[in-house]
Amino acid sequence: MRAKVQRLQAMPLFPFEGELTMKSLGPLLEAELVRDGESPDRPCHSCGGDERVLWRNDRWKVTRMSPSANPVGVFLETVEHCDVEHFDDELAAEYGVLTRHLEAAIRSLDSVGRVHIHRWGDGSAHFHVWFQGRPARQLELYGWGNVLWPQILPPLPTDVLDANHASVIATFARAVCGEVIEPA
Ligand SMILES: [Zn+2]
Repeated sequence: MRAKVQRLQAMPLFPFEGELTMKSLGPLLEAELVRDGESPDRPCHSCGGDERVLWRNDRWKVTRMSPSANPVGVFLETVEHCDVEHFDDELAAEYGVLTRHLEAAIRSLDSVGRVHIHRWGDGSAHFHVWFQGRPARQLELYGWGNVLWPQILPPLPTDVLDANHASVIATFARAVCGEVIEPA
């Protein structure tokens, strides 16, 4: 076990050094956790979060993430509460096409080296996919390093992120139509 921790720690993707103590896993939960939008005591932040919306059409929207060290951070999410197991072939096809064009729009920025695309699905009743534009040429933020470092590093300035997101959404909307939402 110690050797595994040391190997992890030696990787540039791992943000910490020094003596580390591994936690023990807790017991299994009695049930899966309830997600936002699935219960009155877990209200949906997406349905009421219009200020985060950058683009939308009838069934999909692109929303802004909290600022981070990544030049771009947006979600592609469904307008309705649903998950991938509820997709019909038409919605699945739309997801593929939107993913292709959103990835290309983010990758078109010089400050982005590659686009990381994640679906966790554990927090919200909306199907939502994370699109992170990873900073170009910054080794520590490659791969899984990008899950850890941006939680610790100071975020990029708001005006830089706003300009990046505006550029991405303009490029994306030229390819897929839909409605670009101007900032309030
Ligand atoms: Zn909702």
